[in-house]
Amino acid sequence: MEPRFHDFIHRQLVPLVLLSIFPGLGYLLLGWLGGVAGPAVAWYLGILAVSGWGLWLHHAYRRRALARWEKARWYRQALGFCYLLCLLWAAIFVAYADVQASHLNEIAVFTEIGASSVISIFLYPEPKLYRPLIPVTMGLLVIHFAHIGEWHGYALAVFAVILAGVLLYGSERSFRLLLDARRQATHDLLTGLANRALFSEQLAQTLVDLKYQGGFSALLLIDLDHFKTVNDSLGHEVGDGLLVEVARRLRSELPPSCHVARLGGDEFIIIGRRLPDRRTGEEKVLHLARRLLRALKQTYVVKGHHLYISASIGIRFIGVGEQDAGRLIREADIAMYEAKAAGRDGAFVFSEEISRMVEEHLKVERLLHFAIEREEIALAFQPLFDGHRRLVGVECLARWHSGEMGEVPPGEFIPIAEQTGLVVELGGHVLELAFRQLRDWHRRGIELDHFAVNISVRQCMHQRFVQEVAELCEKYLRPHLRRCLVFEITETVIREEVARVVATMEALRKLGIRFSMDDFGTGYSALGYLKRLPVEELKIDRAFVNDLEQDEENRAMVKVIVGIAGLLGLQVVAEGVENEAQYQELRRLGCDLYQGYHLSRPLTAEALEPLLAARGQAMEEERA
Ligand code: C2E
Ligand code: MG
Ligand code: MG
Repeated sequence: MEPRFHDFIHRQLVPLVLLSIFPGLGYLLLGWLGGVAGPAVAWYLGILAVSGWGLWLHHAYRRRALARWEKARWYRQALGFCYLLCLLWAAIFVAYADVQASHLNEIAVFTEIGASSVISIFLYPEPKLYRPLIPVTMGLLVIHFAHIGEWHGYALAVFAVILAGVLLYGSERSFRLLLDARRQATHDLLTGLANRALFSEQLAQTLVDLKYQGGFSALLLIDLDHFKTVNDSLGHEVGDGLLVEVARRLRSELPPSCHVARLGGDEFIIIGRRLPDRRTGEEKVLHLARRLLRALKQTYVVKGHHLYISASIGIRFIGVGEQDAGRLIREADIAMYEAKAAGRDGAFVFSEEISRMVEEHLKVERLLHFAIEREEIALAFQPLFDGHRRLVGVECLARWHSGEMGEVPPGEFIPIAEQTGLVVELGGHVLELAFRQLRDWHRRGIELDHFAVNISVRQCMHQRFVQEVAELCEKYLRPHLRRCLVFEITETVIREEVARVVATMEALRKLGIRFSMDDFGTGYSALGYLKRLPVEELKIDRAFVNDLEQDEENRAMVKVIVGIAGLLGLQVVAEGVENEAQYQELRRLGCDLYQGYHLSRPLTAEALEPLLAARGQAMEEERA
């Protein structure tokens, strides 16, 4: 369907009215002079009446945003107004054309030419107006000239036909140009789908429709998974080809009453059609989302490459009375990110709960920025013990005492710091606190065999990491003190470029640092990698220690890990030891070190110091 230019037609209404009322007065006067006062007055009253209608239509369009069906009705009425007005001007021509008195006939001829020009200039955005109206107005003139019955009359008739053709042609050209300009301004060049601007218009209209008609609709925000990889590895041409095909599939899957737009990059958005009620509507939208996911997952063949790509869809249902378009899009976006976080290739519906979580997340993110400055980050130290319950060292655990939110557990803020990249700064700060503590203890004669610090992958992969650690070592730790340093990394490093990880670890080993594989067994645990990575310790994840006394599988898992560690010559630490039975069982299975609430909770430095002092004393005694 060709677009309609409501705004344009709306803007012409007042000029058309003015061009009728004021020149119309002249015709009234001339009619009176020419002795046809009666018809002239009747005609002018007609002009006034139709003009009044035109002004009312102008006002009605402005008074409030119109629903789609109201707009359609308004448009029909505006066309009706234009037809009527033109008919009135044709009528005055017919009335005056044969009246020689006061040269009314000549004026009539001019009127007709003028009317046609006005139609061509003012009404070209609607073919339904200019296509019939120009032939009618000029046609009357042609008949009039032909009726003269002399050669100059025929010549004028021919000229009138030519002029009608020119005006029609001009209108048609202008209309095409307008269509092109609109198309370019409202569509995406690559895929031919609506662009962001048109989408905003359509969404605003949908919200108005819902407001006045009720019902229910939905936004579906679609983002392709790992599209960047395609672009980076196969080039932009292939990426473009893929996007074009995605657009084609979306269009063919969607009912015609849905709007689909490309927001940019690999992001598409759909406005679902208006559904009568929410209960059945939600099911239909979810069904549509599933169908889209299936269609998008089919193999693509682009420039000889066979590609597979999935998508993540964020859904935001739209009820009656929702007016904030920007917010709807943001919330669809949040849902889309949830779909990505849930493993991609799926759809996720926005809910208030998600909204709260996101707000909380943003709050943590915002406050975490200042946490370091405000010295809200501190360390807790959880002791590690050997098989004789002797304290051998500690693991440093970050603690955040937020002024605004109170204690925030690391399980909450560390992942957020990782996502935002803040973990680089935070981790650096933790390292500094840890090293300083180690140095202070050393100065006070407290020595440890094992001093572990958790290192996040993102921090580890940061280009300045090695240098930063080297600087901190230089500042706080003399070489023999570094021997007890253990960096705990998680198996997720395997997802990174392994050669780089190994290089970083080797560089740190030169400084005297050892590595431990934290939470071992939960993640990637590819044994091949374990051989390549220079780790010296495996830390069995809490999940396997849990229930160890009863759970046969967990026991088997610990046995396997201890076995692997034995083969590779690694030390094994069991974490999360919560009772004596677990401790005994782990000892029996052959772990080397133990950590857990049963042995000691994480403690502050002050609380830990008596334990460390006792350890020192015991060691002295042993030596003596
Ligand atoms: P993690 O490195 O595996 O640390 C052990 C976690 O288990 C700690 O939780 C500790 O308090 C808890 N835990 C110890 N014994 C027991 C037990 O017997 N039962 C139970 N249920 N839990 C026990 P926390 O301090 O909440 O830390 C959670 C995670 O946050 C850590 O897991 C670590 O991955 C991360 N994290 C903590 N501090 C840092 C840090 O400074 N940097 C980085 N990158 N991550 C950190
Ligand atoms: Mg750890
Ligand atoms: Mg752990």
